[in-house]
Amino acid sequence: MEIWHPFTQHGLNEDIIEIETSEKEFLITKSGRKIIDGISSWWVNTLGHKNPEISTAIKKEADKLHQIIFAGFVHEPSKSVAKNLGSFLPADYTHIFFSDSGSTSVEVALKMAVGYHYNHGSSRSKIVAMEHSYHGDTFGGMSSGAKSVFNAPYVNMLFDVERIPYPKEGEEEETIKAYKNLLKKEGDKIGAIILEPLVLGSGGMLFYKPFVIEELYKLSKEYGVIFALDEVMTGFGRTGTMFAFNQTNIIPDIICLSKGLTGGSIPLAATVCKKEIYDAYLSNDKAKMFFHSSSYTANPIACAAANANLEIWKNNDILADVKRINDFYKNQIPRFKNLPAKNVRILGNIFAFDVQNEGNDYISNIGIKLYGYYRNNDILLRPLGNTVYVMPPYCISEDSLNKIFNVIEKSLRECL
Ligand SMILES: *Cc1c(COP(=O)(O)O)cnc(C)c1O
Repeated sequence: MEIWHPFTQHGLNEDIIEIETSEKEFLITKSGRKIIDGISSWWVNTLGHKNPEISTAIKKEADKLHQIIFAGFVHEPSKSVAKNLGSFLPADYTHIFFSDSGSTSVEVALKMAVGYHYNHGSSRSKIVAMEHSYHGDTFGGMSSGAKSVFNAPYVNMLFDVERIPYPKEGEEEETIKAYKNLLKKEGDKIGAIILEPLVLGSGGMLFYKPFVIEELYKLSKEYGVIFALDEVMTGFGRTGTMFAFNQTNIIPDIICLSKGLTGGSIPLAATVCKKEIYDAYLSNDKAKMFFHSSSYTANPIACAAANANLEIWKNNDILADVKRINDFYKNQIPRFKNLPAKNVRILGNIFAFDVQNEGNDYISNIGIKLYGYYRNNDILLRPLGNTVYVMPPYCISEDSLNKIFNVIEKSLRECL
């Protein structure tokens, strides 16, 4: 059998690079070629590859407990995640539901929200999402995500979602107004709104202001709509705070976490909710329980990795590293002045710009060309259409950051 890789057009015969080991910001081949991971291996890796404390925790737990059924049973690593994660979150979050990927954490959030209304005797089940958003590749995720080349074959199978425009700088009021109008018209049908806070990742690293989240939250509360934030990418420091919602004055009803939860070591996800939601399921009626599970829910080894990660967050100033990278980015801005780059933008650990005069669909030729150029220069960057972005693990050295930006500058001189 041959391996069928994700988001890969095997017909283009792209060279697949075999990695033997990894360390900090490097992916290392058998022959010793060191590739700088400029995108944290698809945004999962926060602290650096093969973090020693996380490795130790995984090894220790592997000697104690592998998977066990999580209905009617519990284990210490899961209890610790609930406690440790809880210590980073407002006390309003009373419950954590485990699953195993970002997509499933979103599915859980949507089901939780709609089930909440159902258990209150209401049929509110419409979902509101933002244009250009991405919430994973399962059907709930695809339905709430933007319609694009990603999901074109399945478009007739996706459920209807109401969309509000992306709140581009200066046009925030339009997004807020669109939501208000939607609520006025059919507020009693809408069950939940789900958003990527502060940055639409796959949509092209599109940033927006915290006050938009605050306004959308206020409106949601006015109309009894569950407000969920998909922090799968933004969680664990990407935007400069531990969670993106920390930059707002609101506490969402539900948040979805996954990528950085184990530091990017092994899969685990959590959907965290307020008491009100949990209480809607609390009953002596079995039909009102939350009917969701993944076989590998709350995997003890993954939970142990998450606990090691949370311990690192507790004992170290991780956000200082994010700030260090952010400061480095700010110093790079002048060198883009005379390059064919527009919308140069920075948020936390994310640096992005759009290549001028190029179409920005995901399969655009310039993105593919640049991707190849970066790889040939031992840098892993995967442009989204004409959007080039950098989002490395937080331990990245100044030397590696310099290498990335030198190659980016060269690419804009040589590739266009
Ligand atoms: C990556 C991502 C997902 C999907 O997570 P998977 O673990 O790949 O299923 C969902 N939402 C957002 C915002 C993401 O960035």
